[in-house]
Amino acid sequence: MLYKSTRGSTEVVNSNEAILKGLCDDGGLFVPVKFPEVQLPLSKMINFSYKETASYIFQIFFDEFSVEEINKIVDDSYDNKFSVNDMVNLTKADDAFFIELYHGPTSAFKDMALSALPHLMTESGKKISLDKELVILTATSGDTGKAALEGFSDVEGTKIVVFYPEKGVSNMQKLQMTTQEGKNVKVFGIKGNFDDAQRAVKTIFTDSALRKEMNEKGRIFSSANSINIGRLIPQVVYYVYSYLQLVKKHEINLNDKINIVVPCGNFGNILASYYSMKLGIPVNKFICASNKNNVLTDFFKTGFYDAKREMYTTVSPSMDILVSSNLERYIYEISGENETFVKDSMDSLQKYGHFEITDKFKKSLDKFYAGFCSDSDTLKAINEMYESHNYLIDTHTAVAYKVYKDYVAETSDNTKTLIASTASPYKFSESVLKALSLNEEDLTPFEMMDKLYKNTNVKIPKNLSNLKNKKVIHDEVIDKSTIITNLKKYLESGEQDD
Ligand SMILES: *Cc1c(COP(=O)(O)O)cnc(C)c1O
Repeated sequence: MLYKSTRGSTEVVNSNEAILKGLCDDGGLFVPVKFPEVQLPLSKMINFSYKETASYIFQIFFDEFSVEEINKIVDDSYDNKFSVNDMVNLTKADDAFFIELYHGPTSAFKDMALSALPHLMTESGKKISLDKELVILTATSGDTGKAALEGFSDVEGTKIVVFYPEKGVSNMQKLQMTTQEGKNVKVFGIKGNFDDAQRAVKTIFTDSALRKEMNEKGRIFSSANSINIGRLIPQVVYYVYSYLQLVKKHEINLNDKINIVVPCGNFGNILASYYSMKLGIPVNKFICASNKNNVLTDFFKTGFYDAKREMYTTVSPSMDILVSSNLERYIYEISGENETFVKDSMDSLQKYGHFEITDKFKKSLDKFYAGFCSDSDTLKAINEMYESHNYLIDTHTAVAYKVYKDYVAETSDNTKTLIASTASPYKFSESVLKALSLNEEDLTPFEMMDKLYKNTNVKIPKNLSNLKNKKVIHDEVIDKSTIITNLKKYLESGEQDD
C-alpha cells in the first residue's frame, strides 16, 4: 500500500516510510494513494478480541509487514500495560455507551495508538534497513507527550523530545512528563500554547536544510503526533471493536447505524472514526464536540475555518487547540481528493489564519454535527452524570456528553450512540472535585486524588499514584521562539555523552 501527500507533491512512499517520516516533505499529511476498498467482514469479526481486530486492520494499511510480523507488533503493543481485560471498557450510562479508552499506561486514550507506534516504527526501520537514529518530535496539549514518552523511553535507536505548553496542562499531566525517566528522553515546557509547539515541529519537518544537516549527523526526524499515519490507524481499531461489542451484547443489530461522539482537539480521534466508516462501520452522525475553543464548531456550521482568535485555557486542556491538523485529511476527503484545493486552503490557513471551503464541498459536512461546551457546563455535566447515573467522567468526556445531550435535545435523534471517553478523571482531579462540589483548595495533586477516591470509590490508576515517589527531572522552560535552537543544543549534548 502506498501513501502520498494531501498537498499533491510527487512524493510516494510505502507504509514503512510513511510511518518513519511522519509528515510529508511539502508539509502535507500522508494519505493512502488509493483508500482500501475493503469492507470489513463484520459478522465474522464479532468474536474477535481487541488484538485480533487490531491485526486485521493493521494488515490492510501496513501491508509491507507479513501477518506474523503484524501479530508480533500487536502482541508487543497491547500487553499487560493495560489494566482491563481487552484493552478498553464499554460502559452504558444515561442512554449512551461510553467507550473507555484510558486504561493504558498513562491513563488517556493516546495510549491506544502510542503503545503501538514505537513497535511500528522500529519494525519499519528494520524493513527499510534504516541506519539512522530516529528523533521523535512531539508537540503535546498534555496527553500525547506522556504517552509518547512512555512508549519510546529507552527504545533503542530513538530519541524522543516533547514540547508542552507550560501553562496549558493539568498539574498531573505536567508531573507525568517532567518525571519521565529514560536515557533518550527530553521534555521542554514552552512559553506558548499547543499551536505554537505544533507549528514549530511542522516547521522543523519542512526545513530541508535542517533535514540535510541532521541526515549528515545520522539522524532523521519523525513524529508521534496524530499527523503520523502510524498513530491514526491504530485509533480506527477501537471504533470497529466497540461497534462489534454493541452487536455482541445485543444492544444493536449488525448493520444498524450508530452515532459517534468525540471530544475533539487535533481532529485525529474523530477522523479515525470516519475511517472506520469507510471500512464499513455503519454511522449515522459524527458528533464533533469542542470546548470554548470552538473553531471546529464554527467550521462545521459555516464552512469557514477561522483560527485567528484568542486561545482560551480551559478545564479540558487537551482540547485547547486552534489549528486542528487532521482536518486536512478530512478536507482532502470531502473535496474529492483535490490536492490543489487542500494546498491552497492550508497555505491560506498559514498565511491569513483562515480558509473557506466551497459550497459544493459544504454539503458533505452534514455527516457531522458540531457543538461546544463552556467550562461551567463541563463541570455541570460531570456533576449530573455522577449524581444521576453514578458514573465518573473526566472533563474532556464531559464536553462530549454535554454536546451529545444538546444534539439529542435539538434533533430528537434516538440512534444508539457511542461516546469516546478519552481520559481518566484522575488526570484532572482538581476540576472533577470542583464539579462534585468538593473543596480542592490547598490540596496537593495527590491529596486531590485521594479525596476523589474517598468520595467516589473509583480506583486510582497506579501510574498516577506512583508519580508521588518520582523526582522532577525535566524542569526546563523555553521561549517558543527558541524551540529549534534548544532542540539542536539537546541533540548536540547527546553527541558529547556518547
Ligand atoms: C488528545 C485528547 C483529545 C483530543 O483528541 P484529538 O485526536 O486531538 O482530536 C481529547 N481528550 C483527551 C483526554 C485527549 O488527550
